[in-house]
Amino acid sequence: MKYKIVENSPFARIARLVLKSSNVAMVLGKTIHLSGVKREGFLKDKGWLAHELCHIRQFQEYGFFRFLWLYLRESMRVGYYNNKYEVEARIAGLKGEIDLPVAQKADSSINPTELPIPVDVKKET
Ligand SMILES: [Zn+2]
Repeated sequence: MKYKIVENSPFARIARLVLKSSNVAMVLGKTIHLSGVKREGFLKDKGWLAHELCHIRQFQEYGFFRFLWLYLRESMRVGYYNNKYEVEARIAGLKGEIDLPVAQKADSSINPTELPIPVDVKKET
C-alpha cells in the first residue's frame, strides 16, 4: 500500500496537545501524521503500523470526505471505542502483531481518541 509518513506533524501536534497525550498517530488520506513518536519507532511497532495502514485503506475505500463523514457519524452513534472503523483497525493491528513474542504484544495497545477523525495514541508502558 502506498502511504506517506510525516514526522513532527503540526496537525498531529495539535491533536496531541488537545488530548494531553505523549504520542499521536493521525491518518488523513494516504498520510500518517506523527507527533511524539519518531518514524523509526513507529515503523518498528508492527501492530501500530498495521492499525494505521487499515485507516489508510478505509480512506481509499470510501473516499476522503466520505470516510471522514462516516467516521464522525459512527463515533457519534456508538462512541469512539466501538466505532466500527476503529474495531476493524484494531483487528488489523492484532494481525500485524501475530509473529511477535507475547511479551511485546501485551504492550502494543493502540487506542482511538475522542477526536472525530482517526487519531490514535499508544498506551505508555
Ligand atoms: Zn485507529
